[in-house]
Amino acid sequence: MNSRWFAPLIFASAILGWLAAVALPDIVWLDQLTQLLRTAFFSALKMVIAPLIFFSLIAGVMQLRASRQMGRLGSVTIAYYLTTTGIAVCIGLVIVLFYHPWTAFPPLIEDASVLGDVTAQSARLIDPGDGSTFSLLNNLLQRMLINPFNALSEMNVLGILVGAIFIGLAAAMTLPEDSAVPKIFDELAQVTYKLAGWVLTTLPIGLFAITFQLAQKIDFSTLAALGQLAGVVFAATLFHGLIVLPAIAWLVSGMNPLQFLRAVSQPMITALFTSSSAATLPLSMSTAQTKLGVDRARSAFVLPLGATANMDGTALFEGIAAVFLAYMFGVELGVTGIVAIFLVAMLSSVGAPGIPSGSMAGMQMVLLAVGIPLEAIGLLLLIERPLDTFRTAVNVEGDLVGCLVAKRFTA
Ligand code: ASP
Repeated sequence: MNSRWFAPLIFASAILGWLAAVALPDIVWLDQLTQLLRTAFFSALKMVIAPLIFFSLIAGVMQLRASRQMGRLGSVTIAYYLTTTGIAVCIGLVIVLFYHPWTAFPPLIEDASVLGDVTAQSARLIDPGDGSTFSLLNNLLQRMLINPFNALSEMNVLGILVGAIFIGLAAAMTLPEDSAVPKIFDELAQVTYKLAGWVLTTLPIGLFAITFQLAQKIDFSTLAALGQLAGVVFAATLFHGLIVLPAIAWLVSGMNPLQFLRAVSQPMITALFTSSSAATLPLSMSTAQTKLGVDRARSAFVLPLGATANMDGTALFEGIAAVFLAYMFGVELGVTGIVAIFLVAMLSSVGAPGIPSGSMAGMQMVLLAVGIPLEAIGLLLLIERPLDTFRTAVNVEGDLVGCLVAKRFTA
């Protein structure tokens, strides 16, 4: 579908769903039809999440083979990517935990069952047991170190992430240079992106059904809270994109922040309009070489890796959105929950493809990690498209700063 029409179409279908619910509240067949469509949409989403994250993470980690070959450049780039993604999630979490304008005290919605039949507790990733550190660690290890096939079938997020990372690492360390396996995994990941793309194409229909169903249960204050969530995400992303990343660029290259932002403005604007780090890659490559003075050998390694594995804006968004939904549905987070959100948001941003709404699968991983019903994502989908634009711009900016870091530390 023409992406120019997609965003307005989604918006229109959400409004239509809402209007239909208000104007035709007692029509039984419409209620049943939208229930069926909503179930089909969520089931299709659930169908693709686990394989998408699994294959794209394995393919991503296998790219480390290249970093093994590239030695210092590889370690500097990976250390930079992990550090800045960690900083981004921390910024998101700190802001959202200390400033959550939508509710003075959680929960905003008392009855989480309005979202469907997934019970929050049964989906909880880490069972805190009797609350002691021992039982917490014990349960955590059991969830992490598990047969990956079981993890996939049970949608055990931690098990999937840990399994994929270990398989990818083992492959990166053992496979010969001319092995076909990395290519196969990369292609399998592409297949799952395609599947996710198909599911997202049905988003206008899914969203009509979701908003129809939600409108009967959720009032105006929830919509206002969603608007505030968007505001908080926007402010935090702006802070990371206009302060943190330019400051790193300045520290490593001496370019003043305005000079840096001007130099990277073209790829950032392209990312804003395409919502795709992957589509922006060619422009990022030429910008790194012509405007940032980073040679081709470095940029050709740092940028493609970044377009799939380094997503600061995405990780930040996932952290904030998970806490928002936890507040909203009265899911108690505690320290374990916050740590789980931090880890899963970081890792799932590594596994997210650089395509529009590519992080929605990972977002569901984060929700599952703390026991928020998957159906809660219906609320996020209402504001997802506009938020994707500027988080993608910051994702791309982070990759370009990575080039400057690589230039400085591998000279
Ligand atoms: N659209 C983002 C990107 O391409 C991924 C996402 O956050 O959905 O970087």
